[in-house]
Amino acid sequence: MKIADIRTHLLEHRLDVAFESASMRFDRRLHVLVEVICDDGTVGWGECLGPARPNAAVVEAYKPWLIGKDPLETEKIWAQCYNALRDQGQRGLTITALSGIDIALWDIKGKHFGVPVSTLLGGRFRQEVRAYATGSFKRDGVDRVADNAAEMAGHRAAGFHAGKIKIGFGVKEDLEVIRAVRDAIGPDMRLMIDANHGYDAIEAISLGKQAADYDIDWFEEPVTPEHLAAYRDVRANQPIPVAGGETWHTRWGFAEPFQTRCVDIAQPDLCGVGGFTEAKRVVDMAALHGIRVVPHVWGTAVQIAAALQFMAAMVPSPVRVNPIEPIMEFDRTHNPFRQAIVTTPLEHQRGVVTIPDGPGLGIEIDRAALREFAPKEG
Ligand SMILES: [Mg+2]
Repeated sequence: MKIADIRTHLLEHRLDVAFESASMRFDRRLHVLVEVICDDGTVGWGECLGPARPNAAVVEAYKPWLIGKDPLETEKIWAQCYNALRDQGQRGLTITALSGIDIALWDIKGKHFGVPVSTLLGGRFRQEVRAYATGSFKRDGVDRVADNAAEMAGHRAAGFHAGKIKIGFGVKEDLEVIRAVRDAIGPDMRLMIDANHGYDAIEAISLGKQAADYDIDWFEEPVTPEHLAAYRDVRANQPIPVAGGETWHTRWGFAEPFQTRCVDIAQPDLCGVGGFTEAKRVVDMAALHGIRVVPHVWGTAVQIAAALQFMAAMVPSPVRVNPIEPIMEFDRTHNPFRQAIVTTPLEHQRGVVTIPDGPGLGIEIDRAALREFAPKEG
């Protein structure tokens, strides 16, 4: 079996109501899938985290190192592609694009051997995961405090045991939001806060000290990902566990944060860190340093499927009778193609997601949906 072609598929939906994190404004949903096609007709699917068109261009740039190769040789292909662009690559789009390719190759490998990717990764510790609801962005034209509180109360009613809200818009207003959300969801639902690196260390420490009264599970991306000393300051000077890593790429990107204990919880993204091949290494490194892992997920059903396969095979750390179970990030913002692109949606039931057990990623792509959500001209 040889790789015959690689295609990218852009998916777009223009939102009626735009929303913002502290670092980004969303007036549309725009994602990119990677399709790797083999000479025997086998097809694998992947997805890249981040800007869709630049990712698609970099996937295209990798083609010379992929066409004609044996798709089962995932480690060899990863090393050769990484090395091909290493001198100017190392992180960013070179790695997010490679992530999409790597996920598609593992999908092919699973289909070839007739087993789910979780089996290839070493076997399943679990058949389902509890999901947490990610939402409560800042939406145009509404009162943020009331809007966020009502949204999270809705997620609780839908069965979610935990939810994550967006902060980083100013310490005073963020504390009002956190207080209102905690009031709305009650004391039992777990609550996380995500600043999307909108604060500096002084603001993050101030926010963390005051927000700790509201029983916060983790404080995500308090400061910009390059500022590792600021991460350490935040972790040392306020009481909430610090999470981060959705924009740290490869084992090298996680090495210093782990060695210098920037975070309590690492959040590699399958579609950004370097695919299954690299995420395995990052999770092993996290275990070495006693750091918890909760993968970051922000994509379509392809990414959700990849994260589910990966999480199925995550080794509990520590192994014990009732282990700490990984929880699955479940984006609740509006995205009509998120599940439409697969024939069987990967939905939650009362906050729990079943891990597919079909070959590869365990999903089937609906090509009519790919056409429906392809970007329109203009
Ligand atoms: Mg985040």
